[in-house]
Amino acid sequence: MATDQLTFDNPVDRHPSLQPPKQDQGTPGLDAELAPQADRGETTYRGTGRLAGRRALITGGDSGIGGAVAIAFAREGADVAINYLPSEEQDAQEIVRLIEAENRTAVAVPGDISDRQFCRDLVQAAVDGLGGLDILVNNAGVQITQPELADIDDEQLDTAMKTNVYAMFWITKAALPHLPPGSAIIQSSSVQAYSPSAHLVDYATTKAAMNTFTKGLSKQCAPLGIRVNAVAPGPVWTPLQVVAGQPKDAIPEFGLETPLGRAGMPVELAPAYVFLASPESSYVVGETLNVNGGLDSP
Ligand code: NAD
Ligand code: MG
Repeated sequence: MATDQLTFDNPVDRHPSLQPPKQDQGTPGLDAELAPQADRGETTYRGTGRLAGRRALITGGDSGIGGAVAIAFAREGADVAINYLPSEEQDAQEIVRLIEAENRTAVAVPGDISDRQFCRDLVQAAVDGLGGLDILVNNAGVQITQPELADIDDEQLDTAMKTNVYAMFWITKAALPHLPPGSAIIQSSSVQAYSPSAHLVDYATTKAAMNTFTKGLSKQCAPLGIRVNAVAPGPVWTPLQVVAGQPKDAIPEFGLETPLGRAGMPVELAPAYVFLASPESSYVVGETLNVNGGLDSP
């Protein structure tokens, strides 16, 4: 049953408790091939003008949480630039279509954020395409499950650090000079930052770094009128999880361990990003907003 963010109902069964089939996709995965399909708010997110006239760059805005945030931002009145890997063009074009359906500008910038020069070019492309920038969402990330530390080779470690941590530094550094007072920077962190799984040691380390970056940078930016915060999702049904984020056998149980008894849908994350981007959160600085179905938070 299609419902929206503002309908009074029971969160336990607002979305079905998934028991998805085991499935395989190459990295990065596509929302287009996810079974069952995720709810990113296509038919359910209702905007109320909270980001009217704003200009946002969202990394990993082609799918999953980033895709849901892009749809929500457009419905709230923002123009949106999305970054993604070239192999994700199919997913990206669907999000572009949904942004444009709201009569907002969509700017698509494919490229690899583990490359420093591309991060600079990305910010410039967003600024040029949107005519400025006042929201940055550092959301792109990689998550590769490995049973033991010995299985995490240098290549995986480099990819995790460069994509999840270095790119956040590079993109934020390039974006800051463009951001006027009132702007917001938001990181996609994770419950893994403080409740790490044994099989995600490198990933969890990057997410803890993102939380600490958020707190430190927020103090630097607050006097400039720029607020820096993070969202820490719990288990959310996205391509990241099926390609390599979980052991394949664990997919059918994904998210069932939460007190709500189900995985989250990307659309359920979007309101947290809208809140942190909008002026209504003007006194919220350096915060990590946990959206995790009731799992522990610090
Ligand atoms: P997703 O696969 O839909 O999104 C991840 C995106 O990262 C991809 O779409 C891809 O475009 C981008 N990306 C990866 N490597 C890149 C690179 N080198 N260059 C450019 N883009 C690159 O999955 P998602 O779950 O929506 O992930 C979004 C964020 O949410 C990630 O940071 C993830 O760590 C975080 N998160 C997800 C969950 C979850 O359960 N799904 C939980 C906690 C945190
Ligand atoms: Mg994707």
